[in-house]
Amino acid sequence: MKKKALRMLGLTAAMAVAGCMFATPAFASKEKPIIGFSIDDLRVERWARDRDYFTAAATALGAKVYVQSADASEERQVAQIENLISRGVDVLVIVPFNSKVLGNVIAEAKRAGIKVVSYDRLILNADVDAYISFDNEKVGEMQAQGVLNVAPKGNYFLLGGAATDNNAKILRQGQLKVLQPLVDKGVIKIVGSQWTPEWGPAQAMQITEDALTANHNNIQGIVASNDGTAGGAIQALAAQKLAGKVPVSGQDADLAGVKRVVDGTQAMTVYKPIKTLASEAAKLSVDLVRGTPAKFTSKMNNGSKDVDTELLNPVLLTKQNVDVVIKDGFYTHAQVYGK
Ligand code: BGC
Repeated sequence: MKKKALRMLGLTAAMAVAGCMFATPAFASKEKPIIGFSIDDLRVERWARDRDYFTAAATALGAKVYVQSADASEERQVAQIENLISRGVDVLVIVPFNSKVLGNVIAEAKRAGIKVVSYDRLILNADVDAYISFDNEKVGEMQAQGVLNVAPKGNYFLLGGAATDNNAKILRQGQLKVLQPLVDKGVIKIVGSQWTPEWGPAQAMQITEDALTANHNNIQGIVASNDGTAGGAIQALAAQKLAGKVPVSGQDADLAGVKRVVDGTQAMTVYKPIKTLASEAAKLSVDLVRGTPAKFTSKMNNGSKDVDTELLNPVLLTKQNVDVVIKDGFYTHAQVYGK
């Protein structure tokens, strides 16, 4: 706050000296908003795409973007957000590592007049201005349905995402919306469910190994919540010569995930056009700074308020329609089918 006020004062003084008081500093900031983009973990494939698309879209709208990656540390993320606040950003766009711990730092941002956008993952118990994501409940439904299409009955294991990520919980809700009626009818049985710390593929492999051992390999379907965890699960299955025999779901259309869908070791993935998300988020952020009304599809309660929300549509991807990612320019033909 202080830093920004000082910066503005300095600018006002400079303009007064130059005799050009017709342009106010606030106007200057609205013309060229500064966006702080705080990302949980740039080491994960999809987030690097989010960064690139977001930066390109924001730059085209006349904004400047500072990017920070917390590399899955909540302390680092809080410190980085504090740093972005002191650098005088106009709006913060945040992919939270831990959805529950950013209330205080966001309150600090709001006191400094900074807008806050929750990107892809909802920040809980905090005064955020807007939330933009894909319809994660629908993603969860697609994951369960994708596994059911291959294994319509039997023992199921639910491999969740990180317990610190609100999306992991919403995905689970979507998965259970599809599975619970079949559990109630006795068609399928959920033999276990776990959260995967930090969405880590190695942790997912360990969890799946343990689940296979506990069930004497008698598992017919694994509902994994993203491609990273699916990769870990499929490695564990491969060690038991079960890869391709037990359907596994995913999401993100990571290149490795798409290749596994083509090879038949992963039953499906979910393609989420990140370019659309990033461009919409960049526009929303700039609109918030400029005071232009933005469009929202719904509201989502984050524990402290009903947050203006825009949810985009995910696309279910199987071997049959995998070329969608090529048509959409997400990958080239050679990337998907090349060796
Ligand atoms: C995102 C997924 C991603 C996961 C791990 C989730 O919040 O929605 O797309 O795979 O985080 O980074």
